[in-house]
Amino acid sequence: MPGSLHNWYSLSWLDMLAERQSVLSGRIELKRLARLRDMLHAHDGSVTVNLRFGKRDGAWVIVNLECEATLALLCQRCLEPMLHTVAARVELGLVESASMASRLPEDYEPVVLEGDRLMPARLIEDELIVSLPLMPKHAHTSECGSLVRRRDESTGEAWTLDCAPPTSH
Ligand SMILES: [Zn+2]
Repeated sequence: MPGSLHNWYSLSWLDMLAERQSVLSGRIELKRLARLRDMLHAHDGSVTVNLRFGKRDGAWVIVNLECEATLALLCQRCLEPMLHTVAARVELGLVESASMASRLPEDYEPVVLEGDRLMPARLIEDELIVSLPLMPKHAHTSECGSLVRRRDESTGEAWTLDCAPPTSH
């Protein structure tokens, strides 16, 4: 069912998905996730998604969420692009209000529904945003500045950045 990750599901729909132990899966293009997109250095590529619905104690709608993506960020040490790989797996419990969240079995992370409905793509987007490091950095300092170094080696000249001001008028 293409596009179903972008649908809004009402409480009764979610309940039915849970009763049937339905699975929603697919890919979401990163450029369709507006809030996340603004936080990325580049937004080509997509996130692979798998949502498995179920019931807990006959009452709670739970979702086993898995997502995988490679996100382009800017290293805050050298200001060059770097890749951040996300492979998240979380157990969520859907609740209608914040007060219900405290009664949820503790193995589940509560998700408070907005207006008693849920759009899976937004849930995934939230998950990806939470995964972003506060201060993205290449894992090793030796990886930093490799673009500048490569340019330096290929031209044999002192390095220049694309954003450097023109030298002649
Ligand atoms: Zn770096």
